[in-house]
Amino acid sequence: MADPATLAERVREGELRLHELEAHADHEDAAAARRLLLESETDAELAVTGEYAFDAADAESNVENMYGATQLPLGVAGPVTVDGGAADGDYYLPLATAEGALVASVNRGLSVLQSAGGANARVTKTGMTRAPVFRVDGVVEAATVVEWVRENEADLAAAAEETTSHGELLDVTPYVVGDSVYLRFRYDTKDAMGMNMATIATRAACEVVEAETPATLVALSGNLCTDKKPAAINAVEGRGRSVTADVLVPTDVVEERLHTTPAAIVEANTRKNLVGSAKAGSLGFNAHAANVVAAMFLATGQDAAQVVEGANAITTAEEREDGLYVSVSLASLEVGTVGGGTSLATQSEALDVLGLAGGGDPAGSNADALAEVIAAGALAGELSLLAALASRHLSSAHEELGR
Ligand code: NAP
Repeated sequence: MADPATLAERVREGELRLHELEAHADHEDAAAARRLLLESETDAELAVTGEYAFDAADAESNVENMYGATQLPLGVAGPVTVDGGAADGDYYLPLATAEGALVASVNRGLSVLQSAGGANARVTKTGMTRAPVFRVDGVVEAATVVEWVRENEADLAAAAEETTSHGELLDVTPYVVGDSVYLRFRYDTKDAMGMNMATIATRAACEVVEAETPATLVALSGNLCTDKKPAAINAVEGRGRSVTADVLVPTDVVEERLHTTPAAIVEANTRKNLVGSAKAGSLGFNAHAANVVAAMFLATGQDAAQVVEGANAITTAEEREDGLYVSVSLASLEVGTVGGGTSLATQSEALDVLGLAGGGDPAGSNADALAEVIAAGALAGELSLLAALASRHLSSAHEELGR
């Protein structure tokens, strides 16, 4: 085993490639060698980048060419009581962010939720999707393939479920565009976010489609899934978990804690989140749900690029006789408590703070609960920002009236 300086020198000389270092040293020394190489090739100093507390070998399946770790400040908000289908009790929310004021804003919102007795939350639909694209001769052949798929979904499920002990194929929805056939496979992936699981299972099902029909697989992902791209299909049909949180905040709590009125918050929500978003052609009819989704994704080891789908959220606000009703519905929140980055040391500790690390009992309940807690956090963020906007409006209105 060579020391980091020697390894860095061998890479510089072209004898070794950056990704080959783990074959010649342990994971820590390989990372140290890459830091030395980068320091000599650039003006960077990487002392802090090399100060990480987890075992580099544990990150082997999470990153290639590791040279250190990015550290983000991690804040806490709460506690908040969540009455969920799976979540049940008081939760502290871990939020990793570099955006000052975010945690304070969520914390303020959560404390208002708490004054209202906590948030309700429910997962209303589950299903991770993968949609391969097949080539056919034309629409006549496409119709044959679609018919075969509709009649033989059980065979596809059998092939797909051979590859996983947890995943279950829920349905397959065909789409035809000329001589292309897209099959959108939807799975219950239990406590896994499920993108790898769904991809592996779909590959097995595609072999059956190719064997039994004239269709030829072109790509295992045909972008109708839709992963990590803004897409209406996710906002409408859902992906991962479709989850909603709501609360009824008594009028006196709105006035005393948020320094505004239910009517002012409803107006801000209508003109901003609904009309403004409609005019912008947005898929996200909300104030900043992505802020909470991103910070909780980073804290708990979710796939950060899926914040794209996590931002497909609609916020509603309504004045009722007994207070302000607010809800946030996240159509496509892709979360897991096993797999991906969830087992990394600090991410797993953050899941421990929530009491949701690892597989749930029954399977899927931990990921459901995580989705519900994130939805409660997003609700708090929406309420807090809407109130800030509304109270500013109110205070300027007061100034005008006072003159
Ligand atoms: P994974 O780690 O690939 O799979 C989850 C594993 O956990 C499976 O081996 C599953 O076993 C096991 N498992 C144990 N207990 C479980 C439980 N209670 N519920 C569900 N599974 C349980 O993770 P994944 O969620 O499928 O994929 C996440 C990864 O995919 C992330 O790293 C993400 O970055 C990456 N990703 C991949 C793609 C892609 O196209 N492939 C796209 C985007 C992201 P069984 O399967 O045997 O049941």
